[in-house]
Amino acid sequence: MTEEIKLSVLVSLFTWIQRSRPSAKKRSKFRKFLDTFCKPSDYFSAMRLILPSLDRERGTYGLKESVLAICLIDALGLSRDSADALRLVNWRKGGANTGANAGNFALVAAEILQRRQGTVSGGLTIKELNELLDRLASAESRAEKTAIFATLINKTNAQEMKWVIMIILKDLKLGITEKSIFQEFHPDAEDLFNVTCDLKLVCEKLRDPTQRHKRQDIEVGKAVRPQLALRVRDPAAAWKKLHGKEVVVECKFDGDRIQIHKNGTDIHYYSRNFLDHSEYQHGMSNIITQNILVDRCILDGEMLVWDSTLNQFAEFGSNQEIAKAAKDGLDSDRQLCYVAFDILYVGDTSVIHQSLKERHEILQKVVKPLKGRLEILVPNGGLNANRPPGEPCWSCIAHSVNDVERFFKETIENRDEGIVIKDLNSKWEPSDRSGKWLKLKPDYIRAGSDLDVLIIGGYYGSGRRGGEVAQFLVGLADRPDPNAYPRRFISFCRVGTGLTDDDLETVAKKLKPYFRKYEYPKKMQPSFYQVTNHSKERPDVWIESPEKSIILSITSDIRTIRSEVFAAPYSLRFPRIDRVRYDKPWHECLDVQSFVELVHSSNGT
Ligand code: ATP
Repeated sequence: MTEEIKLSVLVSLFTWIQRSRPSAKKRSKFRKFLDTFCKPSDYFSAMRLILPSLDRERGTYGLKESVLAICLIDALGLSRDSADALRLVNWRKGGANTGANAGNFALVAAEILQRRQGTVSGGLTIKELNELLDRLASAESRAEKTAIFATLINKTNAQEMKWVIMIILKDLKLGITEKSIFQEFHPDAEDLFNVTCDLKLVCEKLRDPTQRHKRQDIEVGKAVRPQLALRVRDPAAAWKKLHGKEVVVECKFDGDRIQIHKNGTDIHYYSRNFLDHSEYQHGMSNIITQNILVDRCILDGEMLVWDSTLNQFAEFGSNQEIAKAAKDGLDSDRQLCYVAFDILYVGDTSVIHQSLKERHEILQKVVKPLKGRLEILVPNGGLNANRPPGEPCWSCIAHSVNDVERFFKETIENRDEGIVIKDLNSKWEPSDRSGKWLKLKPDYIRAGSDLDVLIIGGYYGSGRRGGEVAQFLVGLADRPDPNAYPRRFISFCRVGTGLTDDDLETVAKKLKPYFRKYEYPKKMQPSFYQVTNHSKERPDVWIESPEKSIILSITSDIRTIRSEVFAAPYSLRFPRIDRVRYDKPWHECLDVQSFVELVHSSNGT
């Protein structure tokens, strides 16, 4: 019998991947792991731990950091008011007690576990880990979950437990994209995953990377990764991008993106993350059964709440509450309402290869709308048909950039989220954000809006801040390919005010392990940063690499200024930090191209 893969092997892989640069090296570590340690029958047990956010086999753990903290405290037998227990509960906060790991739950936990678990591997295999995680997902009480944590702690060391926690939180911060992992696994893995959202199936079908897999079509009952919209700055940019195309502009509804899969009376509601939202059954399934005129289909659209007293869609955020009210049979003047804006499958055929125009026609044939419950979004009918006179339409054909502009203006006045602009001749493609659909939101062109920028360097303060980083050099992303992670960051401005002392200290402490001085004679900055030679700009320390860094939301009281000091063409005159975006990964930093367009549009140029 071949030996089972130990968690310690996987942990070494994670550590290697996290440390290795560039991406090709990370990929080769992963390939070596597959070839050396895995039999094809192990692929799924390993892949579900490497890509935990894509695993839908064991359901959710229901464990956010706050609950996880309590489970760990109890599993370790800590008193709830001990210093370590408080550190776990207050993992986000900075200050004297939390240390440089503040804001990263797994690191705070590892620090505490280190003193109790030691360094010798606990010998857990990945098979055993998966079994324990299955039990954790199906455990109903906190006591049961705590007992499983106690077992996990018993069978791991602190380093292993840190990764187990990251697996549970479904974010490994490996600095490698899911795309690269799939590509390294098998050339057809990403495509197959996109149309099935089924990691187990991908691992079982694609065991040999030299054996190509026949392109698979979408199926009723298997979530498909949604077609996405590319962000544009203004109507002119949208019009330019879709130059010469037949274009429809639609209201961007602010609800939950849901795919409805109907197979007779078996109906599923898949979210963007391919979770099956069964809570929508009660409010919706009868209507779907009665008002969808085919037995099998997949609809794409947005789940919203309709307020029948106000005769309008309710603001974002009440879907869950209304779904629960429907389940409990409570009467309400608000109800779930599904707006179908696309159709992907009818009868026994996928229709994603047909044009949007054709799909709109099919949608009209297949769905019988029911006001405030089930609506369709098509340019010459559906939701538009019963709008009160004088009200803006929800979807219309645009013949010129002026039409897009007018529609956008109306949407802003209506306080809707924005608009989506679509090429009527385009196919629907899973996970594509290449620009068949464009989105335009008012936030992006409002001058003085928050800008999410990445810290790339730090400046030491003086006085009571002497010896500590008190200001940051922030950068914008250079993102030549909107679907890929940015490769470079371009210096943008220097910012230090806006946060409380404590918050500022937390950010500085958290980044401290990654500060690197690049002093004479090695005056070079890390290669992923682009700066000018201006001395004012040179920070005292650089962040070792962008993945380690933090996003700040900054605002500016007055207009942007043309910059000679920083590498970005514009900078901000009086920037302030509005808040720290621990929730935003580094690669979601604003990009320089978008920022320049924003400046042009707010200057009216
Ligand atoms: P955002 O936070 O802007 O919604 P996102 O990353 O969730 O972005 P995108 O594909 O970038 O998703 O933007 C399109 C989203 O807008 C869809 O996922 C969907 O939830 C929502 N939406 C609302 N109305 C429409 C519409 N008419 N057509 C397409 N998408 C729409």
